[in-house]
Order: sequence, then structure tokens, then C-alpha cells
Amino acid sequence: MQNKSVLVVGAGISGLAAALRLATNGFQVTIVEKAATAGGRLNKLSFDGFSFDTGPSFFSMSYEFEQFAKDCKINLPFKYYPLDPLYVVNLSNNPKYFHLFKNEAKLAEQFKDIEPEFEQKFNKYLSKAGDMFHDTINIVIKSNFDSYLHYCRNLMKVNPSHLPVLMRNFYNQVSRYFDSDTVKQIISLVAFFLGRTPFDTMGIYTLLSYTEFKHDGYHNVIGGMYKIVEGILEELKKHNVKIYFNTEIVDFQSNGSKLSAFIDNNGNSWSADIYLINSDAAYFRGKVLKRKDFSQSQLDKMQWTMGYLTIYLGLNIKLNNVAHHNYFLGENYTDYAKNVYRNPDTLEKPYYYVNVISKHNSELAPVGCESVFIVCPVPDLRYKNNWDGADVIVNSIIQDFSKRIGININNHIIAKRFFTPIDWQNKFNLYRGSGLGLAHNMWQIGAFRPKNYDEVFENVFYAGASTHPGAGLPMGIISSKLAFERIVHYAQK
Ligand SMILES: Cc1cc2nc3c(=O)[nH]c(=O)nc-3n(C[C@H](O)[C@H](O)[C@H](O)COP(=O)(O)OP(=O)(O)OC[C@H]3O[C@@H](n4cnc5c(N)ncnc54)[C@H](O)[C@@H]3O)c2cc1C
Repeated sequence: MQNKSVLVVGAGISGLAAALRLATNGFQVTIVEKAATAGGRLNKLSFDGFSFDTGPSFFSMSYEFEQFAKDCKINLPFKYYPLDPLYVVNLSNNPKYFHLFKNEAKLAEQFKDIEPEFEQKFNKYLSKAGDMFHDTINIVIKSNFDSYLHYCRNLMKVNPSHLPVLMRNFYNQVSRYFDSDTVKQIISLVAFFLGRTPFDTMGIYTLLSYTEFKHDGYHNVIGGMYKIVEGILEELKKHNVKIYFNTEIVDFQSNGSKLSAFIDNNGNSWSADIYLINSDAAYFRGKVLKRKDFSQSQLDKMQWTMGYLTIYLGLNIKLNNVAHHNYFLGENYTDYAKNVYRNPDTLEKPYYYVNVISKHNSELAPVGCESVFIVCPVPDLRYKNNWDGADVIVNSIIQDFSKRIGININNHIIAKRFFTPIDWQNKFNLYRGSGLGLAHNMWQIGAFRPKNYDEVFENVFYAGASTHPGAGLPMGIISSKLAFERIVHYAQK
């Protein structure tokens, strides 16, 4: 494998992780990246003395990162620590702040007035979620599939007792264990992390509740999430992996069953023995490889995760009463969740996540100040393509947040930027500004998700959120491993 060269298209977490796996196993790796920096959605923004995570702000399944480091025979090049509480939730019709502790007794205390016997119910719920996690993680999530038949065979190995859950959505599965609407809303909130809502996310994904509360929890990176990228870049440097920024692949040349070169936006040609695509696996197939199955009309028929409006605020005060990770929910959870994809009116009463990164990383804001990052799920560009009035939505979120915390932060904003789905689309080629790529419904997961090997060119592979297994940083790390295994297998032929 020493002589095989690999061109990686995209320096997102999956591309970087795959590049390091390849480089540490003797491949000669080069990366081309459309943006001016590495990291893709896992990025950082610094201005006016403040720094922010631009996208991901915590991760689960830390052992996947540890295993990645072992696979590459390095020490993990960043430091992280567990979150407890995982996050804090506030509902607009309730002044209480619910702290989602990992300790069950402390958690039960939060709900004692609204959900009798919470602890027993929660244990029962998590026990089922844990079974689903352990029964699927290796044979469904962490496996490559060579055909639909291969996938179906693996599915048949899953304990049939989980079959009824396949018929339920996330919210229905949660509702079987709890009576209080507030508890159901708070426990099902994690479905939003998959970029959809609890009403159209499969019940099987309640396994996420197990990963957050029981299995491994969530983790923060010391110094901000971008330390992950900086750490991997340092390792790549040791293996002479070069990254060419501001280089977008726009076309290709082929030779029979092989791709022979990619062409970039400046007309330059990039050749290698093997190509790994970290650009969105569905969008890239349509836009660059011109595949009919991924034409714009086909892509528009697929289910995509929501867009995000992200806001970055530098405040000249400390927010002593606000936690590091917070969710602010509005009224009418059901109506909101059912409309949020398509109906821009939901933005009048938005739901949003607030991250105060400077709480645990004081160096990311000037002394006495706070770096605040807000994420609001919004319709993708199919349903709202005009963001001229984004200011109004941003201000209404700031106003709502001010009201909830009892401080008019408008008087304290000294730095401010925001990204709409148009920015997200243009920065990283995210289709229609979808934040997490393709959704994870029954027909878009496993062997039904765009494959991590190409249908036409034997020397082209994929890693990233829209191929198997899906969105989120740990899935990106797993995806890099699955693509790496395919490349090694191909290179040994
Ligand atoms: C607002 C937000 C919050 C999130 N929060 C979390 C969180 O808290 N925890 C978590 O685990 N996950 C979170 N996620 C999800 C996580 O960010 C993604 O799943 C993950 O970063 C995706 O990585 P990737 O490697 O698949 O793709 P990307 O990060 O999209 O990387 C792909 C790279 O390819 C480049 N590229 C695209 N097309 C081309 C081309 N033609 N030529 C050259 N380069 C190209 C892009 O510029 C980009 O750098 C969040 C996402 C968003 C948007």
C-alpha cells in the first residue's frame, strides 16, 4: 500500500480522520478543501476578541475517538471532560430550569412534582434503549454492507423483540414510559440532535437516550471543539499530508471503471490512485459526478435534516445564571415540531439552543465577557429561501432569551454575527442548507443511505454525514473507519 496515493476531497472531521488513518497506514495522502480552513462544520469563528464553536459544541461516544487514536497509533491529540448536567432545559410556560443530571436520583428530583415514580420509569425506558443500542451498534451502525441482502441479513440478527419499536416514532416510544407532557418533551428533545423532530424520528433512536444518560454521556473539549481539528492537523503534518485550501472540486475525468482525475474551480487537475469524498455523499454525486439518481429533483425528494440559523454574540457581562449548554423550548411542542421544517411562521416563537463556551474556557472571551452561541432549527432552503429578514428573527431570539434569563442582553452585545442556511450551504456545500445532511429515516439508513463506495468508479469512496452511518462527530469517526476499511480492501486487490 506504500505506493498508493489517495486524494481526499473535503477536510471535515470524517475526511481528516480518514486521511490520518490512511497516512498512518502507508498511503500517500493529499487533501483538497473548498473552504479557507479545515474542519467543515466542526469549525471555529473568532472576531472582536471572542471565539466560538461554529457548529458542534459537544460529543457523545468518546470511546470512538479513543479507538481512532489507537488505530492511528497516536495519543488522542485533544483533551475532553464529561458534562454533568448534560444540559439545562427551560420551557416558555414554566419558569423552572430542568437540569439533566446523569445521576438518576438527582434527575428524578427534577421531575418529582410532575412525574410520580420517575426513577423506575426512566430505568425501564433506558433498559430498553440500552438493549437496542447494544443489539444494533456492531451489526448495523459499525458495519459495511456490500448489498441490500447483506444489510437485511444483518438486520435479521437483531433481536426481534425490537421490531415493534420500528413501527413507532421517537415521541410515541417515550410516551409509553412517561405520563407528563413536560417529561416526554424533555426526554424526546435528543431527537432534534439528529436534525429532525421526535415525531418523525424512528423510535429505535431512543437508543440515544441511553448513550446520553447511561453509556458514555456528552463531552466538552478543553479549549473549544476546534482543538479536535487542530490536533488532527498536527498529526497529519507529521505524515506530510498536504491540504490545499480554497480548492473546490467541480468536475471529473474517468477512464473506464476508474476515476482518473478531479478538476477544481481553477481548472487544475488532481490525480491519485484512489479518491475519498468527504463532501456530502448525495449532493456530490449529483453536482460533480452528474448522477441522475442524485439530480436536483431527486435530491429535493429526499428527506433532509433541518437548516440552522446560528448566532454568535460577544457580551460585555458575565451570565452567571446561565449554564454552558441550554435548551429553550416554546409552547405547543407538538405543533411546533410538526411545522418546523416547512413553516417559517414557527420562527415567531422559536426553539433554540444556547451555548456559553466561555463558561469553561475563559480564554475564549475577554475578561468579564461571555461568548454566546445560539442554534435555532429552521426550514431548509426548499421551504424558506429568502433570508433577507434574518435580522428580525435573530432579534426575536435575543429578545426571548433576554426575557427568560431576566437580563436585556441587547444592551451588552459588543460583537455579533449570524449564519443563515444560505451561509451554511455556500460555505460547505450543504444541500439546501441542511445542517446535518440526509435525514435518518428507515429508507435513508444502512444500505439505503448513499453508499460509502461509488456505484460506477471502483476507486472512489465516501466518508461523512450523508453516507453510512450518519450525522454527528462520533458517526463521522466511524464513517472514516468504514471507508478506510473499504480502501484497504481495494488497495490489496
Ligand atoms: C449548527 C450545528 C451544530 C451541530 N452540533 C453538533 C454537536 O453538538 N455534536 C455533534 O456530534 N455533531 C453536531 N453537528 C453535526 C456535525 O457537525 C456533523 O455531523 C459533522 O461535523 C459532519 O462532518 P463531515 O465530515 O461529514 O462533513 P463537513 O463538516 O461538512 O465536511 C465536509 C468538507 O468538505 C468540503 N467540501 C464540500 N464540497 C467540496 C468540494 N466539491 N470540493 C472540496 N471540498 C468540498 C466542505 O467545505 C467541508 O469542509 C452539528 C452540526 C451543525 C451544522
